[in-house]
Amino acid sequence: MARLGNWIEPCPEGIYVRPADAWVDPSQPKPRALVTHGHADHARGGHGEVWATPETLAIMGVRYGEQNGHAIGYGESVRIGEVEVGFVPAGHVLGSAQIILEYRGEKVVVSGDYKRRPDPTCAPFVPVPCDIFITEATFGLPVFRHPDTGSEIDRLLHRLHADPERCVLVGAYALGKAQRVITELRGRGHDDPIYIHGALERLCRLYEELGVPLGELRLATGVPKAELKGRIIICPPGALNDRWSRRLPDPVTAMASGWMRVRQRARQRNVELPLIISDHADWDELTQTIHDVAPSEVWITHGREDALMHWCMLHQIKARELNLVGYEDEEDEDD
Ligand SMILES: [Zn+2]
Ligand SMILES: [Zn+2]
Repeated sequence: MARLGNWIEPCPEGIYVRPADAWVDPSQPKPRALVTHGHADHARGGHGEVWATPETLAIMGVRYGEQNGHAIGYGESVRIGEVEVGFVPAGHVLGSAQIILEYRGEKVVVSGDYKRRPDPTCAPFVPVPCDIFITEATFGLPVFRHPDTGSEIDRLLHRLHADPERCVLVGAYALGKAQRVITELRGRGHDDPIYIHGALERLCRLYEELGVPLGELRLATGVPKAELKGRIIICPPGALNDRWSRRLPDPVTAMASGWMRVRQRARQRNVELPLIISDHADWDELTQTIHDVAPSEVWITHGREDALMHWCMLHQIKARELNLVGYEDEEDEDD
């Protein structure tokens, strides 16, 4: 019998699906690309044709201009070459999908980035039983156990109300995290205007167009200091410590990221209020997901794979590391 999944070729620049002559999340321009979601380490510009969810195509349109795109909604599938290709929610950011590949009776799921906990800005992850589960392992160590999101948001609000003379400046990635933090704040009853850095404006507007209400947002640039006291301001992580933030009224520097679990990372960015809010599965979510999809093999694309390889071995699941390059390089994009 042929080796399971021998029609899938992991290459440094992405996953090549031979009988479809197409690539999943290629880091180089390719004639045919299947894209899991809009983060820059997965969605690049310059492909010939792109298959993705309508939301991901819209995000790519904002970033790279109009795509030669084929929109595939959740639960839909399309035949590309000899492969049946389907998209189901990954729960990572708006439009994020797992890609289901079926060929000659084998089913392979490429998860892209994913998480299992609720996120009001996107559809929840759907476990799909499969023969091979190709997973990320960004937080693939047992020390990574993300706390409840609501309690992190409560810490942020508590800090805001504790000192009305200051503002709280939250670093959050422009695609996904910023909108999630805003929506979680609204869900906790924070109805005040939220101020945003100009770099977040286009994606926030797109989220609203795609049906994710964010409440009243105002651009922070040029606003008098007095108006910003007692306010929440959201900016990309790169702006936390730059000239732009120096014009704010004595900001409490916060950052929303799974990496805020690591004290060193918080210190590097001078973060006073680390908020552990992640768009990636933590250790329990990774192992629970492998349990749920019950694959014969697990292939790990990127992240901290050693512990997860070991866990798979203990559970009699064949595991393999792919060492794809380019994912996660962009620190400022994806956490
Ligand atoms: Zn991502
Ligand atoms: Zn990623």
